[in-house]
Parts: sequence; C-alpha cells; structure tokens
Amino acid sequence: MLHLPSVKENLGRYIDAGFPILYICTYEESKADRYILDAAGRKKLLEWNGAQGLADFRTKDSKNPSQDHSLGAVLSFLKNGRELDCTLLVIKDIDGQISTEGMKGQPEAEKVTALLKEIARKIRKKDGGIDATIIIVSPSVHIPHSLEKLVTVMELELPDEKEIGDIIGNFMKNNDIQALPTKFQEDMVTAFKGLSESEIEDILSLAVAQEGELTGKTLQLIFDQKQQMILKAGVLEMIPLKESVADIGGLENLKEWIQNKAKVFKNLKEAREFGVTMPKGVLIAGVPGCGKSLSAKAAGRLFDVPLLRLDMGRLMGKYVGESEENMRKAIRLAEAISPCVLWVDELEKAFAGIGSGGSGGDITTRLFGAFLTWMQEKTSAAFVVATANDITKLPPELLRKGRFDEIFYVPLPNEDERRKIFEIHLNKRRKKDVCGINLDQLVSETEGYSGADIEGVVGESIENVFVKRGEKLTTGDILECIHNTHSLSEIMKEPLEEMAKLYEDRKFKKASR
Ligand code: ADP
Repeated sequence: MLHLPSVKENLGRYIDAGFPILYICTYEESKADRYILDAAGRKKLLEWNGAQGLADFRTKDSKNPSQDHSLGAVLSFLKNGRELDCTLLVIKDIDGQISTEGMKGQPEAEKVTALLKEIARKIRKKDGGIDATIIIVSPSVHIPHSLEKLVTVMELELPDEKEIGDIIGNFMKNNDIQALPTKFQEDMVTAFKGLSESEIEDILSLAVAQEGELTGKTLQLIFDQKQQMILKAGVLEMIPLKESVADIGGLENLKEWIQNKAKVFKNLKEAREFGVTMPKGVLIAGVPGCGKSLSAKAAGRLFDVPLLRLDMGRLMGKYVGESEENMRKAIRLAEAISPCVLWVDELEKAFAGIGSGGSGGDITTRLFGAFLTWMQEKTSAAFVVATANDITKLPPELLRKGRFDEIFYVPLPNEDERRKIFEIHLNKRRKKDVCGINLDQLVSETEGYSGADIEGVVGESIENVFVKRGEKLTTGDILECIHNTHSLSEIMKEPLEEMAKLYEDRKFKKASR
C-alpha cells in the first residue's frame, strides 16, 4: 500500500471505530503528538518511551507500576485492562522492542509481541472488550507477521502549500523578519514542497543563521537539502545531466514525443490552466544498446529538471515490509523533488517472478501493486521514464492504458539511424577526420548492429590507429574493425526477431521513424 491513510483525516475515526493498534509512521513525533492530543478528547492518555518507561502523555509524569520500566513489564501490568479502560496508549521508541523478521529468537521482543497481540484481541472483542487504542509512533515500519492483521499503518502527511506558508509565516514572526516580496515567498513555498515541518524549520533557521535573513540563497539551500535527502535515503541516485537529444542518433518519433512533453512540463501552470493533463511517463522497451538509457538521460536535460534513477536491486530489502517501505520512500522523495524525471531502469528485473509463489514472489507482487497504484493515481510532476530490455517479462497490467502515456519500442537502428550514430560518435572523438570517411560504406556493412555496437567499433578503430601510430582515422580502419566484430543481431538473432514480432503484434509505437 503506497498511499497510507492520513493521520489528520483518520486518526479520530479509527479510534472511535475501535481499531486496536494504529501505527503512525513519521519522524515528527511532536506533530504526531498534536494530532493524538486532538483526537483523544477526554480519554486517558498514557505514553511508553524508552527513556522514561510509562508516563502520563499530557504531563509527562512517570507512572511506572514497578521498578521494571521495560515495555514488556508495562504491558504485562496493563494487559488485564482496568488500567487501560478509556485510554490511548502511545508507544514510542518501538525499534528493537518487537520481534521483526531479523530478530527471531529474542525472548523479550517475542514477549512484547505476544502481549501486544493479547491486548489488541481484548480491544477487538465486541462486548466486554477493553475500550482502548494502542498508538505506535515510529519513523520506520516493522511489523511482525503475527500482528499484521491487528495493525493499521498511517502516515503523517507532509504540509500542503497553505501549511508551508503558515510555517514560514510563524517562523518570520518568531524571528522578527520583515515581510518578503510575494513572488519570493511563493517560490519558497514551492521549493519547500515535499519536506516535513521540522525539515522546513531547520532550513529556515540555517538560512537565517548563515545570511541573517531570508534571501535568494535560501532557495539554493532548500535545493541542496533535498539532494541530501536523496543521498541519505539511499534508494535513488541523482544522475548528472550530460547527454542531450543531440547525442541520440535516430529514434525521431520518441525524441519528438519527449520534446512535446517537455513543452508541457516546462509550462506546467499554463498547461494545467489550459486543460492539459499532467504527463505521467513513458515506457521505452526494446533491443539492448539502442539508446533507451540515453533517451531517459536526455529527457532530464530536456525537461530541465533533476534526473533520479531508481535502483530496483537496492530497493529490495531483507525484511518483510522493508522493500515496500523503500518503494514508498523512493516515491515520496521523487514527489518531494518534483518536478523531476524518475528513471526506472531495467523495469523487468524488478518485476520478474510476479505471482511465482514463495515469499520473494509475494514481495515483488506487492511492490508491483504499489508501483501500479502510484502510476495510476499520480498527479505530481514526477515524470517516469521506465526502460526495459525484455517486455515479455513485464506483467500485462503494466502495459494497459492509464499507466504510461505511451509505450515505445526501440528497434535496431535502420540505415539512416546508423549513419547518424556513426556521425555522432565520430564527431565526438575525431571531428577532423569525419569528412574523409565514407559513411555510406560503413552503413551498408553494419546491418544488425546496435548503437552500442557502432560506438564500440568507432572506439576500437580509433584506439587501433593510435596504437599503430597512424595519423588519422580512415574508412578502412573502421571497416577492419567491423569485420572483426560480431553484431548484436548475429549473437541474438532469434530472440531479437521474436521480440520484433511481438512488438509489431501489440502495435507499440516505434521509436524510429
Ligand atoms: P540501452 O538501450 O540498453 O539503454 P544505451 O542507451 O545505454 O542502451 O546505449 C549504450 C551506448 O550505446 C550509449 O551510451 C551510446 O553511446 C550508444 N548508443 C546506443 N544507441 C545510440 C543512439 N541511438 N545514438 C547514439 N548512441 C547510441
């Protein structure tokens, strides 16, 4: 589940409805405390935290029933119910207290898990059950299997534009900062989108500490902070924007399509007002080494926004729930950084084995579901470029309308495209020799070569000339190299033909013209 129920809208309702355990996933304890206080009304409020043991939530007075302050001891005391009646029990610092997958065989953690289950069951009992709710507040979600059905995970939503405006306003008031130009304040609100209340406050404090006031540099600081978030989370990688559309030989249909989307993306506000739908993303599938990754990279540059690469391998965590949490983190980040291009590389690798049974299959199925829902519902300016070498490994749901705006098939380059690819790579390395080279001959000798093959041939022939102490690169040098290499289609003739047929049958758009 990617979009967790929001605390703001649901906490009170869930408490009234008798949900036994609510799990609020957040770094912002103080904000969660405010919502809990609001939702509690007249109920008794107890808190257990690692440092204090049991305490009154409102006054923070210690309430430990015995010398032993551990969660296990406290829950044993509370389990009979009298102390818990008409109460919200808030548990903080839960990490390491309950038995998650990685910590089997720890008696204390297993005891706490069993006690939570016992209490939750008593709460659930319709008649004569305890009128209580357990609320766990933690930055990460680790739920033992045995509790999964009793726990509802919720998320503290990030501040919306109005709330961000209020946070900035309060900060300015508390720090005696003069009113700012409206445009600058608006820019700041946009830049802060995707950050939490405490992150926003930290950056504002830092900006004022550095500059003495809020200036244009604050915007840079916000951007830097977002980059920090990406690095820390470790699930996304920020790719430098080096390649441009001019580096791609051929694929004219795809390039034109991306260029049109870039026009929308660069003028989002006007486009929205005009009635244009927010572009979701594109799936680029096809022959390896023919410019799929190159196109993803060029999209970042064309859209003039950060390019984030999602590494599916890194996403798969060891513990149950971890990979979904990582996926959520990655998506939250991408939305925070948005507008951005999110490049999901080798999509088929992540989703191979869906429905294949076993716990690995389960996880991929759930991850896949989360990704699909996100793609379906996405309204943020995080444009997805997914690339895949083998579309037969992708589940059909992904290829249905509504997930991607378009699916392109990248074939082996045709004659025209091979000529352009030769030109690009020759111009990059030996510009002065290009006019003496017979491109027609190179093109006719390289049928079935991928873009990467051509780049390889160019690179190798230049190296050979250098080693032989030749002065310039000639057509003969390159032809020699061509005759000594095996093209991709020689190596993978049958699978490539099969794939080409499949794409034609499914009527995917061809990236080339
Ligand atoms: P894939 O389709 O497997 O993602 P890449 O885009 O990574 O392939 O291509 C690998 C390399 O081959 C690129 O870095 C580029 O140098 C070269 N190449 C492939 N296709 C093209 C192309 N259409 N135009 C120019 N270079 C290309």
